[in-house]
Amino acid sequence: MPADPDSEITLVPHWIGGKPFLGDASSDQQRTGQIVNPATGKLSGEVMFASADVVDQAVRVAEEAWQSWRHVSIAERTRVLFGLRELLVGASDELASIITAEHGKTHADALGEIARGIDVVEFACGVGDLLRGGYSENVSSNVDTFSLRQPLGVVAGITPFNFPAMVPMWMFPVALACGNAFILKPSEKDPSAAVFVAGLLADAGLPDGVFSVVHGDKEAVDGLLGHPLVRAVSFVGSTPVARYIYETATKAGKRVQALGGAKNHMVVLPDADVGQAADAAVSAGFGSAGERCMAVSVVVAVAQVADELVGAIAERISSITVGPGDDPDSEMGPLVTEAHRDRVVSYVEGAAATGAQVVIDGRSHDRVAAGEGWYLGPTLLDHVGPDMPCYTDEIFGPVLCVVRTASYDEAVALVNANPYGNGVAIFTNDGGAARRFQHEVEAGMVGVNVPIPVPVAYYPFGGWKASLFGDLHAYGRDGVAFYTRGKVVTSRWPDPALRAGGSGGVQLGFPSTGKR
Ligand code: NAD
Repeated sequence: MPADPDSEITLVPHWIGGKPFLGDASSDQQRTGQIVNPATGKLSGEVMFASADVVDQAVRVAEEAWQSWRHVSIAERTRVLFGLRELLVGASDELASIITAEHGKTHADALGEIARGIDVVEFACGVGDLLRGGYSENVSSNVDTFSLRQPLGVVAGITPFNFPAMVPMWMFPVALACGNAFILKPSEKDPSAAVFVAGLLADAGLPDGVFSVVHGDKEAVDGLLGHPLVRAVSFVGSTPVARYIYETATKAGKRVQALGGAKNHMVVLPDADVGQAADAAVSAGFGSAGERCMAVSVVVAVAQVADELVGAIAERISSITVGPGDDPDSEMGPLVTEAHRDRVVSYVEGAAATGAQVVIDGRSHDRVAAGEGWYLGPTLLDHVGPDMPCYTDEIFGPVLCVVRTASYDEAVALVNANPYGNGVAIFTNDGGAARRFQHEVEAGMVGVNVPIPVPVAYYPFGGWKASLFGDLHAYGRDGVAFYTRGKVVTSRWPDPALRAGGSGGVQLGFPSTGKR
């Protein structure tokens, strides 16, 4: 991989004990990964890969830090999060540039993911209310009962390349607010955002060791999954890895939430506003080059709406500006790596070979012809069948498939038969149809005339079926439940009058609340 002559090759360190951690970077044994700017295809940096020993070191430092952090008051924890919120707002532009240089998405899109991450920090600032338990007086004579939620200890987050700032922020603000220590293993493809945010947390006053970053691949992940001091694992990424994480970590006795891949459908009924539906399909299909877990990847055109809808989508696609993410005119950037771009292209080739109609072919886009960076132009495939690989597989690129169905029932049956169940949307002017759809459809997040129904921070985010393994979704009250464990205290304080009469003596019967 040639280096970028205009950029200095940096070595991205881990973050352990409140500072960058290089360990024995000069050792022959030290593994690293390459960081490539997707807009140029040139090497821009390298990232340290953690061995099991480095992971163990990070976990032990985190465990020690947690022994103090767990006793820090809610007020103090909240103050750190308020501080982080202010620092993130001030540093958003800088962080967005870091994301664009490694991920490839446009600067505006990077700012958008940071803003959605800050939403979760703001939610976590309300942890005092979220952790409030219940209290019942006199559950039995002179006996009171109350409930608490307490932190788990050291918890880990393993995150994907496509939202290097937002997805970690789905996890750590809530985990830290609840009193846990957090270890982040970000994607090795765009690792710098994680270290930048670690610096902000330190500046916000988070004690050393409470938040750590370890980089790497399977070796680092396995080090976390098998470590006895890691109490819980949050994962976001592809379905095969999500399943592996869930099976491995639950077997090791950990609490796990593992969010997987997606194939999000957008059902358009014949009565929908076609212009509005086409705008939504193009925005949600090609934003971030389709590398969003909530991207619309299949438009289900019901009955007679299909021809007009495909025409309206095609018209809008032709005016999308594709280019480097740091160019303010660009609306869509490159794909993250060459291998991923080639994989996406293979689905377009396969679609044509299996009988789909390639309405707009991103392979012939000018950016692809220019030969620099990992570009693919927006691609529209019509007459896609449910057995074609471009329908059955998650493509995760700028390829929008149109499946035509004869009826609403056929459309819902198609969506529900799909193994994924992350997001789904319906476009219609019929409130009754929309209500029926939200009731019947098998997906975790549903949009009604909203193409990307990512819940706001105080509602949880999560899919169904192969899009999530585990019971609790990310952030919102689910996040608080995930990062805490419940405790119920039953208490009796000696009543002076009772004390005078003795304790009532030894009673071997099971304690009851009185006679019926
Ligand atoms: P990925 O599964 O390849 O990687 C995710 C994380 O797992 C990374 O940190 C990576 O280093 C690690 N990893 C990769 N292979 C591993 C292995 N064999 N063993 C252990 N760890 C491994 O995912 P990605 O390509 O980075 O991200 C794209 C995927 O993430 C898509 O499938 C997308 O749908 C999904 N995603 C889902 C959501 C959601 O909320 N459901 C959100 C964002 C992304």
